[in-house]
Amino acid sequence: MNALVQSLATMSGLRDRDDLDAALVRLVVGNSDGIVLSASLLRIVGEGDDRRFLVAAALDEGQSQIRRDPVWIDWTTLPHMSDFPMRALAVERGRVVHGDSAPFTSAIPLLTPQGVWGVLEIVSADALSTPTLDLMEGLALTYCNLLGLLDYGERDALTELLNRKSFDGAFFKATAVQGDDELPEGGERRHAHPDAGVWLAVLDIDHFKRVNDTYGHLIGDEVLLLLARLMRSSFRFHDQLYRFGGEEFVVLMRSDSVEHAHAALERLRERVQSYAFPQVGTITVSIGYSILLPNDTPSGAFGRADKAVYHAKEHGRNQVCSYQVLVASGDLVDQVAESMDVDLF
Ligand code: GH3
Ligand code: MG
Ligand code: MG
Repeated sequence: MNALVQSLATMSGLRDRDDLDAALVRLVVGNSDGIVLSASLLRIVGEGDDRRFLVAAALDEGQSQIRRDPVWIDWTTLPHMSDFPMRALAVERGRVVHGDSAPFTSAIPLLTPQGVWGVLEIVSADALSTPTLDLMEGLALTYCNLLGLLDYGERDALTELLNRKSFDGAFFKATAVQGDDELPEGGERRHAHPDAGVWLAVLDIDHFKRVNDTYGHLIGDEVLLLLARLMRSSFRFHDQLYRFGGEEFVVLMRSDSVEHAHAALERLRERVQSYAFPQVGTITVSIGYSILLPNDTPSGAFGRADKAVYHAKEHGRNQVCSYQVLVASGDLVDQVAESMDVDLF
């Protein structure tokens, strides 16, 4: 089989976004007759005037190691879009922009139905020929289509949040140390804050059945959609937001400290409470959360946060409860202690 077709076939079988990102830059560097010096896949994060570039994958000619920004990178350290006029112009115009002096840069916008996802930037010793550029644009388009297929399988159709199916994989990825072949852009590893951790929160709408019973399912669905929007605007770009089932949501978030994690969840709870939902008026949510432990499992972490939600429901709803705080105060029995009891007796 032709090598390019073979690579495309392999790429189309990938189900992991990081692998897909890496495959694209490898294809670009590997199919350029040696004139490409580097290829970078840059994802746009943020909105409006505060859009920034995250390195999803980058590869230099002659190297095998993919560079990428760390999964939980601090948003404020990312460069602004305005620092890169060519990339910004490609995003604004929605078509390729070329530099006219060596080293030559081509910025290819990556367009999805939701808008411009990012930019494929190719730096080359000579200007790219028209056939090579056509090939690169074709690869970029293929990448966007594959990304769309992944989204289709991993996102909930109503809210566009991630669905439950994609949770386990993301859970292990979020908690794992980055592999050796994936150094962050610039090659340096950032030192984590000593209290930093990953938290899992479960959010359940209070008395949602009443909303459906009083106003009907369509209005109920609209509440779910608006709640998902409030969630998106409350968390950072790398926090992962899921719709787990009907009116139950999950957040996987990284924070410098438990205080910051709690504050983010409390902020969401307040926002929901003060939002005027059309027709329905006010709704509230109960939130339970737990820090992720070493060797944690998705079901173990979910179970702890869910116990904290249950406690919130039993004690007045419209509140944020920490599993660890409830265990420390004796309001809940620790799952680990519980399972040891079962093992021992
Ligand atoms: P609680 O405060 O104890 O959570 O009360 P609740 O009424 O929210 O809880 P319960 O779990 O008993 O009911 C959840 C309701 O959510 C049941 C169903 O009417 C509604 N629901 C579940 N999935 C959907 C959905 O996809 N769309 C709509 N509109 N409603 C849903
Ligand atoms: Mg429920
Ligand atoms: Mg509920």
